[in-house]
Amino acid sequence: MRTSRRELLREIPAVGRLLDDPRGRELIGRFPRAQVARAIAAAAEGLRRRVQQVPEEELASLEIGSRVVLEAAAARLSELERAHLTRVLNATGVVVHTNLGRSVLAEEAVEALAEAARGYSNLEFDLDTGRRGSRHSHLEEVLCRITGAEAAMAVNNNAAAVFLVLHTLAHGRQVPISRGQLVEIGGSFRIPEVMLASGAILVEVGTTNKTHLADYEAAIREETAFLLKVHQSNYRIVGFTQDVPLPELVQLAHSRGLPVVEDLGSGVLVELGSRQVASEPTVQSSIRDGADLVTFSGDKLLGGPQAGIIVGRRELVERLKRDHLARALRVDKLTIAALEATLRLYLRGEAWERIPTLRMLGTSPELLRRRASRLARALGRALGEAAQVRVLPGTSRPGGGSLPAVELPTSLVEVTPRRITAAQLAERLRHGAPPLVGRVQHDGLLLDLRTIDPKEEALLVRVMRDAAVGEPS
Ligand SMILES: *Cc1c(COP(=O)(O)O)cnc(C)c1O
Repeated sequence: MRTSRRELLREIPAVGRLLDDPRGRELIGRFPRAQVARAIAAAAEGLRRRVQQVPEEELASLEIGSRVVLEAAAARLSELERAHLTRVLNATGVVVHTNLGRSVLAEEAVEALAEAARGYSNLEFDLDTGRRGSRHSHLEEVLCRITGAEAAMAVNNNAAAVFLVLHTLAHGRQVPISRGQLVEIGGSFRIPEVMLASGAILVEVGTTNKTHLADYEAAIREETAFLLKVHQSNYRIVGFTQDVPLPELVQLAHSRGLPVVEDLGSGVLVELGSRQVASEPTVQSSIRDGADLVTFSGDKLLGGPQAGIIVGRRELVERLKRDHLARALRVDKLTIAALEATLRLYLRGEAWERIPTLRMLGTSPELLRRRASRLARALGRALGEAAQVRVLPGTSRPGGGSLPAVELPTSLVEVTPRRITAAQLAERLRHGAPPLVGRVQHDGLLLDLRTIDPKEEALLVRVMRDAAVGEPS
């Protein structure tokens, strides 16, 4: 009887035979043979699993045979041809989502980046003298004008910035730091390890919850290179705590002829409090308070491309530029173009409107509620009986290890599928075109429009319909 599972399993053709099939040979003409063999084996395995799992009554209608396996293999191979790094719709509400690429660039930055990519540029060419120029020149003036610092440079990311500062100024010398600031920023960036790798000698001062000025004072020796303050970024200590404010640290350090370096992490260049987002120190305030060097990321709350920015005293920045490691950590022209264009938006006073990261953080709860209601209606129409859709109050997060205690009020669209589970829906959406990522909670999938551009909403409805309306698999 053909419908016995064992019988059907035997009908699935062997990989070797399929490779010799004309359609198999056609695939070998387009892809490496080993890849075709792997795809056919995986497709045959998929079919085998299906034979074992389908309900008894569907067995008779199940299609087996070369054509089915080869078509599935061809689909797998075409998937390999698609770009691996692909655009994703971020409906998590986490604005600076490190796993989803941190900051979305402003249009102005995208244009500048494309322009720099398309042709030659004056990257290291001085148009006034016709001689060799410096790649730092494009960013230095604009960074100084925004932050009030004397000098500036950019490197690959903030981890590189901290590493370079330690390597140049503290190799073989001591750097006191509060025990409350020995942070880990996502896996591989841990202050103690970075210091060790740079050749600087870590001197722990104070305790986890309390560090006093006297603790720093007692740690200063002949071998001290500078005093380091690291923004706690992704965690907060609450309760019985004390930290030394930057101006006091600066006063102590300068009275001993030492610089102060501050790793600010996020690098906020506008008052976040002015839009009720959070109260967070700006780079400008650190420079005003006397920090000799400040390091921060380009792609966290600044809203630009991945980069590490260092601003501060000219004499120190010049030493950093001369370090042979600066070459290994330098930024490329695409980053410079995108970062310069982003920074110019700050100078023009257009940052809140034009930079997506800031625009998303500053979106009002009223606007989010209106957008959520509109989307819920559109999804209700598109999904029909396949899901229940409603709007709930909720919170979004700034993300990126910045502002861990901040929760921004938002409205969430909850999609509860009726025929599949929320986890299955989320999985299908991850394989959508483009993939959509939301938050699974209980039986529903939550969508936060804070991180979705209004222009992406129609696309969101389409990928949701494709995923939710299909049959259970
Ligand atoms: C994020 C962060 C870093 C690392 O910055 P990247 O740009 O991710 O390399 C270093 N220090 C602090 C305090 C941070 O918040």
